[in-house]
Amino acid sequence: MSRQCPEGLTMMSSWLHDHPYLDELARLQERVQESLVDWVQLPLPAPRCDMHAGDLSQGIPLLMSSNLDRTFAVHAGEVLCHLIARISPADLPEGFRAQCEQLRERLRQAPELAAHLVETQLAGPADQENADPEQGFIKFFCWMALAVVLRPWHESFDKWRQNLQWEHPYCPLCGARPAMAQLTRSRSGRRRLLACGCCGLRWAYQRIGCPFCGNDEHDQLAILEPEEENWRIDVCHRCHGFLKTYTREGEEALMLADWSTLHLDALGMQQGYLRLAQSLYGL
Ligand SMILES: [Zn+2]
Ligand SMILES: [Zn+2]
Repeated sequence: MSRQCPEGLTMMSSWLHDHPYLDELARLQERVQESLVDWVQLPLPAPRCDMHAGDLSQGIPLLMSSNLDRTFAVHAGEVLCHLIARISPADLPEGFRAQCEQLRERLRQAPELAAHLVETQLAGPADQENADPEQGFIKFFCWMALAVVLRPWHESFDKWRQNLQWEHPYCPLCGARPAMAQLTRSRSGRRRLLACGCCGLRWAYQRIGCPFCGNDEHDQLAILEPEEENWRIDVCHRCHGFLKTYTREGEEALMLADWSTLHLDALGMQQGYLRLAQSLYGL
């Protein structure tokens, strides 16, 4: 990564130093991770992907495969209960505090509700969720819990997918639309990866074209260049969607975290484009 951190600062603190409006979200991420430190359940074994090859070849993401064992949702529900019991409402942004108390009470009375809440996140993109603060709150914490269960699956799922052509603009693991994109180098030149803002998976997608409407006509596509080094915003004149694109490699955990570049979403919207990306973060 070419960006130089001021001496003594980690990449994260340097980034926050330059983007102080992201402080609250960075703190939220930190609190979530702290609340999960004492979570000790063994990782759930990754599913046998060959059992789901038929569904995947028809464009059905793994988590929506008809014969997938749903134990992963029960485990994610347990992580959700743990997370909500540990996190202190005082550590949350003000708009989340009352919802956290309410959810904690609901889960205390009916812990089995947690797996159901997790499953409802997988029912497909619900574009209105972020407009409803309560749904946005539940969605955020369900995906934080799902990530604990799904991250250990990424490596074996990626390895298995090497033999599978997945050319869809939605995540092959969870089915979410991309939150952002990344340009990387491969043996055959530059390639584009789409990045899931829900489960965190990345997958290769056609280099040119809008993932939201399929438009691949060059004169209907454009690039906005923010001042931010290593970033661009791809825009589509057909559906008016935009996609934040990281043009370098390295620091993916921070750079592709979605929340760390919400200022680029704000920029895209200021320019009159639509935020069609699937994000856990409302604006
Ligand atoms: Zn995903
Ligand atoms: Zn489009």
